[in-house]
Amino acid sequence: MLDKARQALRSVYGYDEFRPGQETIIRAVLEGRDALVLMPTGGGKSLCYQIPGLVLPGVSVVVSPLIALMQDQVAALKQLGIQAAFLNSTVPWRAQLEIKAALARADLDLLYLAPERLLQEDTLRLLQTVDTALFAIDEAHCVSEWGHDFRQDYLGLGVLADRFPEVPRLALTATADPRTRTEIASRLRLRNPVRHVAGFDRPNIRYSVRIKRSANEQLLRFLGEHRGEAGIVYCQSRRKVETVAELLRQNGHDALPYHAGMEAASRAEHQARFLREDGVTIVATIAFGMGIDKPDVRFVAHMDMPKSLEAYYQETGRAGRDGAPAEAWMVYGLQDVVRLRQMVEESEADDERKRIERTKLDALLGWCEVTTCRRAALLRYFGESRDDANGTAAAWQCGNCDICITPPKTRDGTVEAQKLLSCIVRTGQRFGAGHVIDVLLGKDTAKVRQHRHQGLSTFGIGADTTETAWRSLLRQLVAGGQVRADAERYGALKLTATARPLLRGEAPVTLREETREQGANRKKTPRKAAAGVAINGPDEERLWDALRECRLRLAQEANVPPYVVFHDATLKEFVRLRPSTLNAMLDVHGVGQAKLERYGAAFLTVLQAHAATAPQTAA
Ligand code: ADP
Ligand code: ZN
Repeated sequence: MLDKARQALRSVYGYDEFRPGQETIIRAVLEGRDALVLMPTGGGKSLCYQIPGLVLPGVSVVVSPLIALMQDQVAALKQLGIQAAFLNSTVPWRAQLEIKAALARADLDLLYLAPERLLQEDTLRLLQTVDTALFAIDEAHCVSEWGHDFRQDYLGLGVLADRFPEVPRLALTATADPRTRTEIASRLRLRNPVRHVAGFDRPNIRYSVRIKRSANEQLLRFLGEHRGEAGIVYCQSRRKVETVAELLRQNGHDALPYHAGMEAASRAEHQARFLREDGVTIVATIAFGMGIDKPDVRFVAHMDMPKSLEAYYQETGRAGRDGAPAEAWMVYGLQDVVRLRQMVEESEADDERKRIERTKLDALLGWCEVTTCRRAALLRYFGESRDDANGTAAAWQCGNCDICITPPKTRDGTVEAQKLLSCIVRTGQRFGAGHVIDVLLGKDTAKVRQHRHQGLSTFGIGADTTETAWRSLLRQLVAGGQVRADAERYGALKLTATARPLLRGEAPVTLREETREQGANRKKTPRKAAAGVAINGPDEERLWDALRECRLRLAQEANVPPYVVFHDATLKEFVRLRPSTLNAMLDVHGVGQAKLERYGAAFLTVLQAHAATAPQTAA
């Protein structure tokens, strides 16, 4: 069976190898076991059920909450030559009958259903009369009330355990929080599931954060490196969305606005153009993006700071799902911090909730200000450590973030850090930032007197530094993992194990020279270096454009988005390898049998025409 799966990977998808985790999961499912898959966006979850769907006799049912996306998903599968269909309220009655007939003839590999449709008694009965091979439950975190996307309809899915005791069930999600994970397994009543938990890292995304100076110019400069590529620019307000979109258009970018204040029709049109055309930039509020799984988004830019690292990770996660190099870029400034703080304070939330939000905002700010690898800090926040446990060894560096590429100017901050850490210890690791800093500054407050903190050895030892500087240092220590702000205990600051070597003077602390100077650090980054697939020189560029044009035409004829015809990576391989026969095309990443038959000839014509006009590049 597994051999068949490998063969399908090659002949249907045109891929050489399974990604980590895919093989384990597919093997488990083929053996009839339940499984729980947690992979970041773009990790390759869909293959985990699509390939069993192809290999196993009978139909595999895919449960998905996003009816709007089923059509595109099924269209993409059909392009691969896979028998797939979806049933929902938008499907006309006659077509529904045809799908049911195909089910009865065992002519369907994959059937997409929304949970409410699946749980209707007649659907359940229908599936019991045919050969049902597998249930794949996508976006499985929707079953969890703790998670951020609870859907009532998902709760009923546990019933599948009773109605289909023999059929393996596969739950998939990109939400990693352990509590959600446990809830998924128990509420869906998975039986001793095989688990695959992939890390959070998105190695192909390059992170960079800079101080806001003249944001519009900074954005234009950044987009100059991404001309003709698809991307998302997030702005905080509707008005800003409109002005930034206009600015980009004036500068020759194919940019469209998207926000909740627009008419539904033009919003839908802009979304469709973003999905269907090549190289459209959408300028949007965070209303945009949920459920968008366009694989070739090359950049996500934030003109304003989001409210937490969770939100930031989710929003930037929309870049580079196809695994090719992508950029997450952000500018932030003091105004953002003031605005977000105000939003927290003025919200209706209770004190507890506000404290959590403040902690999260501080974590994000600290992350903006880090002086060590940004990816390492991001992963650390999500509980994934890349560093040596005792914190003394050289820190791990990703080589693909702004800090690794252009290290900021730093100065030694060991003594200040030690003062701050001692002050946290002396006050009993029970107080939040405000009080600890008051003690450092030697302020005479009611709280200081109440706890007799004016008698501590650390009282007033930081009076030569400003409160702002202390707060910045504290955020850096939180982002660096030496201090933790306990959100459940009123934001009380606590030292972690990695703070000890620092207190003993065994590990230095470096601070940003002057946070404001960061933006001046505009050494040009070797942008496409990591890609290995850059388009070089006018000849390659001409071929690349011709191939993209061909792709767009074919996509429009087939009424699918261009990436469904071929991904960028595949076109770039065409540029690099210049296949001159259909057979040679099969060796290219992403070219399977069905697509070769459908599109091979058209692309071959383009390649041959190019070779004829530029014979000197034949080698
Ligand atoms: P997810 O659902 O986890 O966000 P997808 O299943 O959409 O991710 O996969 C992301 C991209 O990676 C898709 O373009 C897919 O075709 C590609 N992909 C998946 N598995 C492999 C593989 N084994 N080799 C190469 N590309 C793959
Ligand atoms: Zn890095």
